[in-house]
Amino acid sequence: MENLSNTSEKKLDKKDLKAVVIGKGPAGISAAIYLLRAGFPVDIIGKDYGALDKADKVENYYGFAQPVSGRELIDEGVKQAKRLGANVIEDEVVGISFEDKLAISTKSRKFKADALIIATGTSRPAPNIKGIKEYEGRGISYCAVCDAFFYRGKKVAVIGDSDYALHEAMELSQAASQIILLTNGKKPQVSFPQNIKIEEAKILEIKGDDKVNKVVLADKEIDIDGIFVASGVAGSADFARKLGLQLNNNKIVVDENQFTGNPGIFAAGDCTGGLLQISVAVGEGAVAGTSAVKYLRTLL
Ligand SMILES: Cc1cc2nc3c(=O)[nH]c(=O)nc-3n(C[C@H](O)[C@H](O)[C@H](O)COP(=O)(O)OP(=O)(O)OC[C@H]3O[C@@H](n4cnc5c(N)ncnc54)[C@H](O)[C@@H]3O)c2cc1C
Repeated sequence: MENLSNTSEKKLDKKDLKAVVIGKGPAGISAAIYLLRAGFPVDIIGKDYGALDKADKVENYYGFAQPVSGRELIDEGVKQAKRLGANVIEDEVVGISFEDKLAISTKSRKFKADALIIATGTSRPAPNIKGIKEYEGRGISYCAVCDAFFYRGKKVAVIGDSDYALHEAMELSQAASQIILLTNGKKPQVSFPQNIKIEEAKILEIKGDDKVNKVVLADKEIDIDGIFVASGVAGSADFARKLGLQLNNNKIVVDENQFTGNPGIFAAGDCTGGLLQISVAVGEGAVAGTSAVKYLRTLL
């Protein structure tokens, strides 16, 4: 008689699955707490104190008889998640892509996730450069991994000066023939490979006809086929574009379960808009966490 136990596949255990939370603010920590208490391993990646960094006195959040500082709230939240078993990593996420699983790249390493919660707070507006809005989708891109293909053998520029700009330039280097870094009046914060030409002058205007074809700097004009915006730190809107998630006014669109519409990817807190308050971020984080738990259980 056939031994069924030998032929059946090994069942996955909760510990074989991993959730990654980007953001260690109220939304991210709250989501992580629900995942951890359901028994799933969680990596929380956050780079700083987020919006609460400069909140000296919070007195409208439940449970504190006396005002509490934003930093204190964050520190306690991180301690709480760690006590429940979270792996909290202080790092900056520079890229997300689909591989065998979701792949989250930070400045120093790569994380794999079966479920992802984006809780990175409010997103930055695009830099205020003449022509940038006008040419969005017509030579102005916010996602190298999505659009590099269209610039095979072409001359492109990256606007930025940080790790995020470096990450986008490296993505482009696999397709474009020439890459110019436009730091828009700043000094590069990290070192860039020799083959990337660096222009530090202020950007005055982006010009073109039906598509971008020129960038006007304070000291010269450069002919260009495309421009990738990667200034500052990658935010929720950048991640959404890389994952093909829907955006509305730079906020990630989610349903009542904080589900983005892309299997296993949830978003919570300020990055989804609405009332930008701690209590809302905590509530949405709880919903995102429980939704992610339900999703991960379907993989067991
Ligand atoms: C000055 C100020 C005062 C405020 N006062 C109050 C108040 O009194 N009461 C109140 O209810 N609300 C207040 N708010 C609003 C409140 O701070 C936000 O609504 C709340 O923090 C949102 O939580 P969140 O988790 O969505 O985002 P955030 O708290 O902003 O957390 C975002 C997280 O994402 C991380 N992150 C972002 N990008 C990356 C990246 N690329 N890689 C890795 N990590 C990343 C950040 O490091 C941070 O950990 C205040 C906001 C400000 C700016």
